[in-house]
Amino acid sequence: MHSDVLVVGAGIVGAACARALAGAGLAVTLLEKGGTASGTSASGEGNVLVSDKGPGPELDLAIHAARLWRETAPLLEDELGPAFPSIEYEPKGGIVVATSDDGALALVTFAAQQARHGVQTQPLTADQALALEPDLDPSLTAAVHYPQDAQVQPVVATEALLASARRAGAVVRAGEAVTGAVSDRTGRLVGVRTTRGEHHAGAVVLAAGPWSGEVGALLGVSVPIRPRRGVLLVTTPMPRRIRHKVYDGDYVGATQSSDAALQTSTVVESTASGTVLIGSSREQTGFDGRLRVEVMVELARKALTLFPFLARVPVMRSYGGFRPYAADHLPLIGPDERLPGLWHASGHEGAGIGLALATAELLAAGIAGAPTMIDGAAFLPSRPGLAAHLAGAAV
Ligand SMILES: Cc1cc2nc3c(=O)[nH]c(=O)nc-3n(C[C@H](O)[C@H](O)[C@H](O)COP(=O)(O)OP(=O)(O)OC[C@H]3O[C@@H](n4cnc5c(N)ncnc54)[C@H](O)[C@@H]3O)c2cc1C
Repeated sequence: MHSDVLVVGAGIVGAACARALAGAGLAVTLLEKGGTASGTSASGEGNVLVSDKGPGPELDLAIHAARLWRETAPLLEDELGPAFPSIEYEPKGGIVVATSDDGALALVTFAAQQARHGVQTQPLTADQALALEPDLDPSLTAAVHYPQDAQVQPVVATEALLASARRAGAVVRAGEAVTGAVSDRTGRLVGVRTTRGEHHAGAVVLAAGPWSGEVGALLGVSVPIRPRRGVLLVTTPMPRRIRHKVYDGDYVGATQSSDAALQTSTVVESTASGTVLIGSSREQTGFDGRLRVEVMVELARKALTLFPFLARVPVMRSYGGFRPYAADHLPLIGPDERLPGLWHASGHEGAGIGLALATAELLAAGIAGAPTMIDGAAFLPSRPGLAAHLAGAAV
């Protein structure tokens, strides 16, 4: 079977890429080894954040991405109609809270830097923070409101992007795993072998999330993306008492850290169904998905420092997934100069839901020559920061 583009992986990034490419008039086939939206995109929260990113290319991408979600959410709902479940886009804004004097200084300094780079930030007094979130522990030392932060339901959002891609002509083949490369005599990648046969295309997009390292090895290249485990607690549904996405300032440090050991930082938010999500942990344990009590206890303990009333709320379940973690904490978006025909769209770590639409725009611009509003040079797989990691043999 021949397509213009093969996309490997039907998580939110592959879905967004398939939609953007099909929307640009290309014949797209998406290959997914399991079910659609069955990987990391079904195992996390759906935050669309600018607040956790410091000045730099990822922040610029996140600001653009937040705007794209704001524009795309109503377009998807119009296109797919009322019978399709809501993607629960909520531009609820985030509040970051410090609980110590040192933390207060770090938070206010960080927010001032962000404000100089296009982030809307509103420093709050304790009274203002409590007016926005009355159940916060009043002993907070500083707080900043980020109105650009938003939220989607990640599984429904992935399925909505896939449905939109199908309407634009994309073919989605679930239950078909990529197992190897098909190359021409010059060594160019011209397709893939799968568990059901062979597919040929002008371009292959690797969007296999935390499995991009493994799939890259099947295609013959080393891709420096590894899993970084994250776990959440989910409370029973209740009337809404947490109105924004609320997290402590430590969260930012954890997202940027390369430490392999367990790290937790409090992230608390309500969902449309009334549950409260309490996250999140970060750990490098390979693909070991066992739940550990130690992690859950730590998450719960820290959440109570922000919202003491949660001590009386039952936890209904816990789940987790594997963030696709790139060696330098930036996603890989663009062509692979080592293997002509191969393109990358993965490595978004804890921000793939938020960054999916902006990633797809950059990728489609590269493949189809479509215009883009942002500079994607920092995300190219050939960037200097990744050179040492790309040089290794395929693993
Ligand atoms: C606890 C936790 C909380 C998170 N919270 C947030 C958040 O609030 N906001 C945010 O933006 N991000 C968040 N993330 C991160 C986000 O979930 C990921 O960045 C995003 O889902 C990655 O999407 P993806 O499409 O790249 O990968 P995935 O969703 O994992 O999709 C990859 C797909 O590739 C498929 N695949 C693998 N191998 C093959 C093969 N050989 N052939 C075919 N298909 C294959 C897999 O089956 C999978 O479906 C969180 C993650 C975790 C774990």
